[in-house]
Amino acid sequence: MEIRRTAPVKLDVPDERRDDLHETVKQFLYCANRACDYCWDKYDYDDCITSKATAEKALYDELREETDYLHANLVEKGIRRAVEAVKGCVERWKKRQRVSQPEFDSWSVVYDKRAATIHDEMVSLATPDGRVECEYVCPADDSRETPYSEYVANDDYEFRTSSLQYDRVTEEFYFHVGTRKYDRDHDTDGSPNTGHQTVLGIDLGVNNLAVASTGRFWHGGEYDHWIEEFENRRAAMQQKETQAAHNCLLRLGKRERAWRKQYLHTVANGIVAEAVETGCDIIVFEVLDNIRDRLPWADWYHIWAFRRLQEYVGYKAPEQDVAVEQIEPNHTSQRCSRLDCGFTHEGNRDGQHFECQNCGYAVDADYNAAKNVGLRYARNVHHSLRSSHTSSSGDAPVDVRIHGGTLNGSTGQYSAA
Ligand SMILES: [Zn+2]
Repeated sequence: MEIRRTAPVKLDVPDERRDDLHETVKQFLYCANRACDYCWDKYDYDDCITSKATAEKALYDELREETDYLHANLVEKGIRRAVEAVKGCVERWKKRQRVSQPEFDSWSVVYDKRAATIHDEMVSLATPDGRVECEYVCPADDSRETPYSEYVANDDYEFRTSSLQYDRVTEEFYFHVGTRKYDRDHDTDGSPNTGHQTVLGIDLGVNNLAVASTGRFWHGGEYDHWIEEFENRRAAMQQKETQAAHNCLLRLGKRERAWRKQYLHTVANGIVAEAVETGCDIIVFEVLDNIRDRLPWADWYHIWAFRRLQEYVGYKAPEQDVAVEQIEPNHTSQRCSRLDCGFTHEGNRDGQHFECQNCGYAVDADYNAAKNVGLRYARNVHHSLRSSHTSSSGDAPVDVRIHGGTLNGSTGQYSAA
């Protein structure tokens, strides 16, 4: 079993080098978007390119030249990000879900140990204008471990793919150090298919945009609030019939779309981080088919948000070695998620409140649903292994991560973390 951690570390970037980092993200995103143009075919998924090797062969030299020789590894990572995104879209397309060409606009650059070197007090990052050395900003308490002491000088951990991110509000740079540690008592070959897997179930909804089976909530209030603000401003603008008002309206629309995307990138990053931090190998969503029937009170911008969230998580998660899967919805919000119960009835749910009519289990309705999403996936895997006789032991291979521990759907066991 492997344990992954992502540690965000604030960086002290020399004033005169800040532009170099901004230039790096610009060129990195250029590579990713150019690679998407190349790999995507809007007419037929069979014509989409989903092989990293093919894309690299076709694009690597061109992109190096077009970016004025961005670090070879960053060009590769940009291409890889595009291929992963296209692959995810093709999977959903095959399931007849609506997809569009992936687009990269969030401030994030993927670094591994060829383009970034982690030192005791600082990290050195490749940019189009040579390396930039950035010291870590650590709390005053100097007993605190640095990313170097904690992960790099520690033989148990391995420095993995990390990312450079920028907070537009505080104008600060963060290095999200990705690390991996093997639990030597268990499966050490790192292959995700042979060992026990842990699942993070995600429920998407209106009151809460997303809820994880670990009990982590991403509330929809702020999202709804800003959509409403934009709508009000739009309505006020539509009263005036001048050309200036018309132009203003167009700019407003553009800003709103950018804001919505940025917001969902943040939520998607949070979902992926939750999976990494709780040691999950797979993030599971429900497919969005018939979502309008299932959530009749959802507005267009909620449905839009669900699709974007699944899409963004679909290409961000593989960068952290986390897979993304989908299950068919089947009364996940009406079923009792207690393993010894499982009673399913529409009377179990009343708005945000879930109370099982059989066993009395009372809990937030979305949290109950998120656990069910994870459990359904775990049961599906268990059943398919049993019917194909490939599982030699009767042991279920998939656990669901919940608040404070894990659930095993087939043995009915709860283990504390
Ligand atoms: Zn129950």
